[in-house]
Amino acid sequence: MRTFGNIIGNQEIVNSNSAYFTTTNPKDNKPIDNRFYEATLDDLILATQLAQKALYPYSKSKKKSAFLELIANKLEINRDQLISSYCLESGLPENRAHSELNRTIYQLKSFSELIKQENWEITHSSPADELRSPTRKPELIKKRLPIGVVAVFGASNFPFAYSTVGGDTASAFAAGCPVIVKCHPFHAETSTLVARLIIDSMKELDLPEGTFSHLLSSDYVIGEALVNNPIVSAVGFTGSIKGGLALQQIAQNRSVPIPVFAEMGSQNPVFIFESTFKNDNTESLGKKLIASITQNSGQFCTKPGIIFIPNTPHGIDLVNALKKSLHEQEIEAMLHKNIWNNFQQLTSLINEQPGVKQIVSIKDSTFENQGRAVLTEMDFETYISNNVFHQEVFGPHSFIIRYDSENQLNQFITITDGQLTISIFSDNPEHSLDDVFLFECQLKAGRIIYNGVPTGVEVDPAMQHGGPFPSSSDSRFTAVGTDSIERFTRRVTFQK
Ligand code: NAP
Repeated sequence: MRTFGNIIGNQEIVNSNSAYFTTTNPKDNKPIDNRFYEATLDDLILATQLAQKALYPYSKSKKKSAFLELIANKLEINRDQLISSYCLESGLPENRAHSELNRTIYQLKSFSELIKQENWEITHSSPADELRSPTRKPELIKKRLPIGVVAVFGASNFPFAYSTVGGDTASAFAAGCPVIVKCHPFHAETSTLVARLIIDSMKELDLPEGTFSHLLSSDYVIGEALVNNPIVSAVGFTGSIKGGLALQQIAQNRSVPIPVFAEMGSQNPVFIFESTFKNDNTESLGKKLIASITQNSGQFCTKPGIIFIPNTPHGIDLVNALKKSLHEQEIEAMLHKNIWNNFQQLTSLINEQPGVKQIVSIKDSTFENQGRAVLTEMDFETYISNNVFHQEVFGPHSFIIRYDSENQLNQFITITDGQLTISIFSDNPEHSLDDVFLFECQLKAGRIIYNGVPTGVEVDPAMQHGGPFPSSSDSRFTAVGTDSIERFTRRVTFQK
């Protein structure tokens, strides 16, 4: 049996008297032979105190870029062990694990490159004007400074890229902030293996202890106490709307409120316009959409969760193509029994509502927690009048809404919640669609995709991953790409 402790101040502390939890293999629901000792409130206090001490020396350190590079290299060197733990704990396939690890390594390297640029911290520099009348104009230099100690909560569905050393941790380290991670209990082994590599990198570069801590916890007590701790200055959260809102509430109720950068759920509407059928493409479009809905059991925040299809002969062909393709998809396990249970309960509740027709994938597999895909079809009026449909269904599910007129799409876009993405399939979306409709789409989403599916978020400085509430807590920021560093910096002007 392997045992794992909390990592605080360069030490992994295995307190065998404290409570422990295990992770499970989602493909058979059997516990994995490991034991994780729960962090105590004393552990948390020690981690925050060490992080506070580390803030000044770490933020001033010239080794931050090398630190990010070294972690990336260690992830590469330890790839085999990381991939095997990732697959065992998440049930996700190996090819997905490799691409997510590549993405995580790339993210670390891009932040390393960013902060290598001389004076990257300076946003504006304005020279003095000694001769200005009637008063001298002072020299002003505006700089990005680290916001302070950052707490990070990762999501279950990205054990590498949105977890221990995912985008939040990498951007906070690049900004000069010490980080305390509350590990996700579904992939605690993968998380601890990554945390150990971070500590090894810190030791190799002689960075201050407390620059990073990793707390094991399977309930909300430690997470809530972390957000409430006065030393913590900002929170990076990726997960459910419910979780993000709970932590935001705690952060707002503190005597000194702090920002929670929460990346949460989204329905990611897809609008199919009649003009897209010009090329007789219903079958290929059906395949493309189903692949995006069902890939890795649909457990993506950018999964297309609602598709608007015109009530026309071509539209009906597309609905039939979706059903055909649905039955051809292979089944994968979902991440955890709890996630599978939630998916079953929500899709059953949806099925009980009047006016809906559900189509369920018929393929079977040898896995427990089978992510069998579900499409729920209905007309526009049924959709709009029932709140049960106006929420993210995390897993391989999508609402198929048949619409009669484009006015109904205008009606939807004005009332829908904020979204991470909106996809528009049309002959020429930018020119052939109503300007007001396109403008409303921009008001509601962080990314507009023309003739493409929303899954597959490029890591690029031009990427905006974060949309209006409730898809994100603050739509002015992105969680992907080097601009995400802005969440963990604060600007200060130096005047001479
Ligand atoms: P989750 O249940 O919200 O968990 C995320 C983390 O937050 C976990 O560590 C969890 O702790 C903690 N947490 C949740 N509620 C809490 C509370 N009330 N108090 C303290 N801590 C709390 O989310 P998940 O199931 O792991 O991930 C799936 C969700 O994430 C989906 O909705 C998906 O769309 C979203 N997601 C969004 C993005 C994005 O970029 N927008 C990316 C990936 C995933 P415990 O595990 O101990 O409960």
